[in-house]
Amino acid sequence: MIRFHNSLSGRVEEFVPIEPGKVRMYNCGPTVYNYIHIGNARTFLVADVLRRVLELDGYEVRQIMNLTDVGHLLEDEAGVEGEDRLEKQSALEKRDAWQIARFYADAFFEDIGKLNMERASEYPRATEHVGLMIEMIRILLAGGYAYKVDGEVYFDLSRFPKYGQLSGNTLEKLEAGARVAVDPRKHSPHDFALWKHDPKHQMKWPSPWSEGFPGWHIECSAMSMHYLGDQLDIHTGGEDNIFPHHECEIAQSESVTGKTFARYWLHVRFLLVDNEKMSKSKGNFFTVRDVLSQGHSPKALRYALLSTHYRQPQNYTQEVLASAASSVKRLQDLVDRLVRHPRRLGDLSPAVEELAARTEKAFLAELSDDLGISTALAAVFELLRQANAMETSGALVATDVDRLLGAMRRFDRVLGVLDFETDAVPDKVLGLVQEREQARRSRDFARSDSLREQIRQLGFVVEDTKQGPRVLPA
Ligand SMILES: [Zn+2]
Repeated sequence: MIRFHNSLSGRVEEFVPIEPGKVRMYNCGPTVYNYIHIGNARTFLVADVLRRVLELDGYEVRQIMNLTDVGHLLEDEAGVEGEDRLEKQSALEKRDAWQIARFYADAFFEDIGKLNMERASEYPRATEHVGLMIEMIRILLAGGYAYKVDGEVYFDLSRFPKYGQLSGNTLEKLEAGARVAVDPRKHSPHDFALWKHDPKHQMKWPSPWSEGFPGWHIECSAMSMHYLGDQLDIHTGGEDNIFPHHECEIAQSESVTGKTFARYWLHVRFLLVDNEKMSKSKGNFFTVRDVLSQGHSPKALRYALLSTHYRQPQNYTQEVLASAASSVKRLQDLVDRLVRHPRRLGDLSPAVEELAARTEKAFLAELSDDLGISTALAAVFELLRQANAMETSGALVATDVDRLLGAMRRFDRVLGVLDFETDAVPDKVLGLVQEREQARRSRDFARSDSLREQIRQLGFVVEDTKQGPRVLPA
């Protein structure tokens, strides 16, 4: 059973999926006009960790993350539209908007691959789903939830009284706020665009209203419902998405279906660098690529970004990164020591079984309780301390080693920072090593020598130590 904070209720709630055992999760993805920065990476990593915890707990997760490759008009709190990021970047780089979108989408996949994020079930691109958005806008118009003006379509907020349920920004509160430059064509300055008319826009499509492009919010409503159905279990995003983006998604989707759109909303708090907001002008703005090109390992960055609780602002500093690198190294060192530990025959020790089982249970229980990463990691490091001591004492037999490695693999299904393969000895070789040890014990030296030769042919040498055979790459 998993609990986490639902922004819709403002409380930590027990998660109950619509369909038992299955999770329909939608994550607001990147706007592909530039490389992702470490704040974006953290938001996506929380979604990755949540998915991995759900899977560890036995759920089947269908995860959809969109790529916004058109129409992301920046809007300020008052609903005033700003510039289009893709078009602006296109002018800067002197490449067309389609090339910009393709290039930075590819870069996004490379970056999340380096950070070892699990692939979502689908990454729908807005440019490939405009037909769905037009259809949804048509339904909203037919139902009287939207209106046309000069070839554009706006959502009519007065028709959706529940607006503000997620952010607290009800229409009444917004209208009582500061006066804004009013677009006289809109019924309310806070009505938002579903379709924009712009014949000069590089990415444009024909529609019943004009040649133009869809608004940002309609992309997420149309694509999430297309891939996951009318109702989602979990919708995630950065806290800056709560308003207006997610509020608008709710208004659009619920006006179409009459049902609750997403039952749980999980929002990730912002990231600071050296306790300050990241900004290009202050020189403390880092993309994932910036950090990796400084020589930091992607594993250290992944660990650094996932080790702060999602509801705490993350303060990214060089110290945090260095400490993450050292934690990853300590965990990897234990794995390496276990992999290379002499493979002595023997029964699983009750103390090892107790330690491994207790830690596995604590790890999942802590993560299931509002993604309690710090306490989950504390449990893992307590196992690490004890396992290191056991390894040093030479008390471990092969079954103990395998049990401890099994626990580490289980932790890494969520953490995603360890390597079990580099120096790992294949099972086939381990089998031969154990056979050879048995042959030696029964003083069948001809068989033992022939097994040693078979092991050598597989690229490994076996040394006999006081604690048992040790296998090393040849
Ligand atoms: Zn979105």
